[in-house]
Amino acid sequence: MLLNLTILPGDGIGPEVTEQAVLVLQAIADAFGHQLQLQRKSIGGAALAAVNDPLPADTIQACLSTSAVLLGAVGSPAFDHYPNHLRPEAGLLRLRRELGAYANLRPAICFPALEDCSPLRADLVRGTDIMIVRELLGGLYFGEPRSITGSAGSRIALNTMTYDEPAIERIARIAFDLAVKRRQKVLSVDKANVLECSRLWREVVIRCAKDYPGVQLAHMYVDSAAMSLVQRPKDFDVVLTENMFGDILSDQAGGVVGSLGLLASASIGGPVGLYEPVHGSAPDIAGKGIANPLGAILSAGLLLRHSFHLEREAACIENAVSAVLNQGSRTADLARAGQNPVSTSEMGRRVVEAVKQSSALA
Ligand code: NAD
Repeated sequence: MLLNLTILPGDGIGPEVTEQAVLVLQAIADAFGHQLQLQRKSIGGAALAAVNDPLPADTIQACLSTSAVLLGAVGSPAFDHYPNHLRPEAGLLRLRRELGAYANLRPAICFPALEDCSPLRADLVRGTDIMIVRELLGGLYFGEPRSITGSAGSRIALNTMTYDEPAIERIARIAFDLAVKRRQKVLSVDKANVLECSRLWREVVIRCAKDYPGVQLAHMYVDSAAMSLVQRPKDFDVVLTENMFGDILSDQAGGVVGSLGLLASASIGGPVGLYEPVHGSAPDIAGKGIANPLGAILSAGLLLRHSFHLEREAACIENAVSAVLNQGSRTADLARAGQNPVSTSEMGRRVVEAVKQSSALA
């Protein structure tokens, strides 16, 4: 199969972790007889520095002309003072909208080898396997109007949270469809005691649930969900929620399973899927060669599964990651006292080796 991809390394640790994910994809292509065809384009701060646009037209064109997009991360303190539309993050938000990627899937799995990396007790985190389904094109991140007006000292900031019924229904159906293939549980997270958006959300989700009689639906307010996520993470299966709540809860889930650096994501629903680690550009560790590339590598696995329906190849990446963790490989974010951390590139090299070994045995 032709795997034609656009690669957007982005900023900070983005290029470092993306490079490792591409090496793993190449190993998969070699092992399973696929052809990898890549176009590299700029986004975020890198694109701002080059052409003063966080999402240049040729980047969008490239993304729309390939089957899937693999992105590193965007964001840099150098652009913090820029106006909103000229910030690196604006490029990513626009890209998600251009690609029509309304469903953001964020798995949070506790690898058995990493039980001791969680700040929670091993018996609490053991067996955690959560799929956060975050609505990606609505809510506060896209709502209009948005502004900061007035003069210094008395300025007013405004953001708008909006959701319409079709937007809620389409993301709810993604969550129910996933639950059918998992443990048949959907937890819808909202703030229906306070927000109109959440009341509509709950009503539409309940209506959709009638089409999935085998799936058990529960509701929780976001504050309570945040608490339960650390008290009993393994009770969670599919978590369905709106844009901002999903952003926050998925980082929290990363903390629960050991490190944000492990978490992968798939943004689907449009013609071209977008795959990226959940973490940001991590300016505090950028350029040091110590970032954990596993979130990016696992995102490449999601890309194979969701954009190319290559389940065996996706599972091969996930098994390779499990294998290197079982062998004791740890980047600095995962290493405990007495463990020697490996670099970003060494972790990537070990996953490539594990891919080669497991595909040779298959
Ligand atoms: P961050 O995710 O970049 O970093 C949070 C913490 O986690 C940092 O201490 C960082 O060192 C650590 N970390 C993150 N990824 C890691 C990895 N792979 N390996 C090891 N440690 C890792 O979040 P932040 O510091 O809040 O944001 C930094 C920049 O990234 C900001 O400009 C923000 O807007 C941007 N951001 C981008 C995205 C994205 O591109 N999707 C997501 C979140 C934040």
